[in-house]
Amino acid sequence: MKPVYLDYAATTPVDPRVVEGMLPFFSDSFGNPSSLYSFGRTARRAVEEARRKVAALIGAPSDSVYFTSGGSESDNWIVKGIARTMLLSGRKCRIVTTPIEHQAILSACAQVKKEGAEVFYLPVDPTGEVHTVDLERLAGDNASLVSVMTANNEIGTIEPIAKIGAWCHAHGIPFHTDAVQAAGHIPISVEKMQIDALSLSAHKLYGPKGIGVLYLRRGVPAEALIHGGAQERDRRAGTENTAGIVGLGIAAEIAMQEMQTERVRLIELREALIKGILALDGAWVNGSRENRLPGNVSFGIRGMHHDTLLIRLDMAGFAVSAGSACSAGALEPSHVLLAVGQSEEEASCALRVTLGRWTQKEEVVQFLHTLTEIVSSIR
Ligand SMILES: *Cc1c(COP(=O)(O)O)cnc(C)c1O
Repeated sequence: MKPVYLDYAATTPVDPRVVEGMLPFFSDSFGNPSSLYSFGRTARRAVEEARRKVAALIGAPSDSVYFTSGGSESDNWIVKGIARTMLLSGRKCRIVTTPIEHQAILSACAQVKKEGAEVFYLPVDPTGEVHTVDLERLAGDNASLVSVMTANNEIGTIEPIAKIGAWCHAHGIPFHTDAVQAAGHIPISVEKMQIDALSLSAHKLYGPKGIGVLYLRRGVPAEALIHGGAQERDRRAGTENTAGIVGLGIAAEIAMQEMQTERVRLIELREALIKGILALDGAWVNGSRENRLPGNVSFGIRGMHHDTLLIRLDMAGFAVSAGSACSAGALEPSHVLLAVGQSEEEASCALRVTLGRWTQKEEVVQFLHTLTEIVSSIR
C-alpha cells in the first residue's frame, strides 16, 4: 500500500502547477532581478508579479510585502526588528505574545529579552483562545508589539484576530500575526483585520520550502534583520530567490481561487474524522471545536502514548504527527498543550492528523479503521 500523508501542517507537497511555473527560473530565466539588462528585467517582472499575487491573498498593498526565507525568518524579523528599534533609541520595549506561539516567535522573544526587552505572555483558555480582556491587563497603552498567531499549528485553534487587531489599533500598538498555518487556508485581510505585520510561508500552502513573506505596514518601526544589498526596498538584503518567489506567487494565486471549495471539502472530512475518533473509548479532541483550521484534527486517547500510536500508524502506512514537526524528537511535552491546561500525561497522548489538497475520503475512512484496530490490539 502507498503511504498516506496526513501531516499537511508540517509541510505540504508542492503543487505540480507551482513546480511547472518555477522551472524556467532555474534555466532560461536565471537572471539576477537587480541586473538592468533583459535577463534581469525578466526576473524582476516575475518577482513583482508574485509580490502582487501574495499581496492579493492577504488584502495588502504589494509595496508592503517583503520576501524572506520563510516563516521563521519573518517571525524573527518582526520581533527583533521592533525590539532593536526601541532599545537602540533608548526607549523601553514591551512585547506581548502568547505561550502557544511557534518556537520561532518564542525563541526570538527569549533572545530580545536577553537584549533588554520585556516579554509578557497572554493566557489562553482551554481551547487555546486568547481574550482581549487580558490584552487590556498586560499590554496597557505602552506595549511596543502585540504578536498573536492567526491559527495554532498543533491544535488548530483560530484566534479572534480581527478583535485583537481592533484593540491594538485603538491603543496605537503595532499588531503582528504569525499566519503561517492560516494563509491560503482561511480568508485573511490585513486591512479588515487591522494587522500591521504578518508572517507566512510557502511550504505550508503547496509552495516550495525556504521562501516566505513578512507583510509590514508602512510606518511600522522594524529594523532590518538581514543587512547587505538594497534588495526588498533596502529592508531585506540578499539576491532574490526568484524561483521560490515565483512558486509562492503561483501557490498564493491557486489558494485564492480554490480556498472556498477546498475549505468546505476539508471541513467535511475533518468532521467525519473527529466523529470517528470520539467514538473510541477515552478519546478527546484538543483545541476549539468551532474556530478550527479546516484540515486540523488534534486528539488524544486515554492511556495511549503518542509515540506508540505514531510508530504503529507508520507501520500501517499513515504519516501523522505527535504535536508539531519542529518538536519531533523532543522529550519535552508540548508547550501548547501545557499552556491550555493539560497534564503532562494528557499531553503525551496528543496526535495531530492534518488533511490537505490531496486527501481523499477513502484515506480518512481507512485511517479510522486502522486506528481503531491498533487501539483495540493495544488494549
Ligand atoms: C511552520 C511554521 C513556522 C515556520 O515556518 P518555516 O517556513 O518552516 O520557517 C512558523 N510559524 C508557524 C505557525 C508554523 O506552522
